Amino acid sequence: MERENLRGCRRIVVKVGTSSITYPTGQINLEKMELLVREVSDLHNSGRELILVSSGAVGAGAGKLGRMPSTLPEKQALAAVGQGLLMQMYEKFFAEYSKSVAQVLLTRDCFSEPGRYLNSRNTIFALLDYGVIPIVNENDTVAVHELKFGDNDRLSAMVACNAGADLLMILSDIDGLYDADPRRNPGARLIPKVSVVTEAMEANSTTRGSSMSSGGMATKLAAARITMANGIPMVIASSDERNVIRRIAGGEEVGTFFIPSREGYAARRQWLAVGSAPKGVLRVDEGAERALVHQGKSLLPSGVRDIEGNFRPGDVVSIRNGANQEVARGISNYASGDARRILGRRSGEIASILGVCDYEELVHRNNMALV
Ligand code: GLU
Repeated sequence: MERENLRGCRRIVVKVGTSSITYPTGQINLEKMELLVREVSDLHNSGRELILVSSGAVGAGAGKLGRMPSTLPEKQALAAVGQGLLMQMYEKFFAEYSKSVAQVLLTRDCFSEPGRYLNSRNTIFALLDYGVIPIVNENDTVAVHELKFGDNDRLSAMVACNAGADLLMILSDIDGLYDADPRRNPGARLIPKVSVVTEAMEANSTTRGSSMSSGGMATKLAAARITMANGIPMVIASSDERNVIRRIAGGEEVGTFFIPSREGYAARRQWLAVGSAPKGVLRVDEGAERALVHQGKSLLPSGVRDIEGNFRPGDVVSIRNGANQEVARGISNYASGDARRILGRRSGEIASILGVCDYEELVHRNNMALV
């Protein structure tokens, strides 16, 4: 993949670090935030779907209360104060361009626990369908230790995978990956593109980010490993570069470009087919098979003849035809018990059978990969 291929990216995740939108005191840097919002809105106007992953809650909270955090609970408290402030400012600036935004707060288990994975994915897809720009941060109130990402670089990579994005841009005060630490070594050179993250690069990147963010180059390389393995290109660039978002999306040589692996690319298209053991089987009739394979449709209960196995909402299921050939894999919206009660029935009947109809589809197209 080349830089110019980035021009075709449709769904883009932009991650900004604390230092890109706040002053060192934590006060919001209005000019920087305004420029960021303008660029994101402009890209959105051009027909792209945008997801913003924004740090800065701890910083904004520190700015508001005039306190620097030292303990973890203090950081969490400042994040709780600052998150509302951040959203208030984003609301205000995005409103100038008639954009609607949404607050999405996630924790690590939103990517490891099947039900939460499905829920966060469904919400993000529904927001994008509405034309809304989701603004994601870690839910710092509940996230400590095993729940915590620890940094928004990795969070942004997971969001890019979860939302099936075509590109991740990580913008911060660093303008890319260097062959040596540029703060200590004036001869250090920027590496324009990377196809493999090596141990030497990681060893070179032990410096941390600013006092209020937890990232640095090391966490950006960890994010690159995730996106590259999942077939998603990633660019690290400086948020101070003029028109940086538009230039990256236009395929220009800015910052460092991390090229997704070929296998990752294939894996992405078949992300469900690879590495996830199905918990059950949905056997479909010929009409449903045709609709899935030739018409790109979702799987409705009416097309299902038979169900095997015990699964929960969010589990991966195998979709098979009458000859027991696997047609697709997907994430079930319903638990096997409920799915058995509605199989063969029209979607309009779901509410009267289950008492409520949260989903019309058993497996939504967004959560399905043909085999
Ligand atoms: N969730 C943290 C905040 O919004 C930032 C974490 C990070 O980027 O290191 O302040």
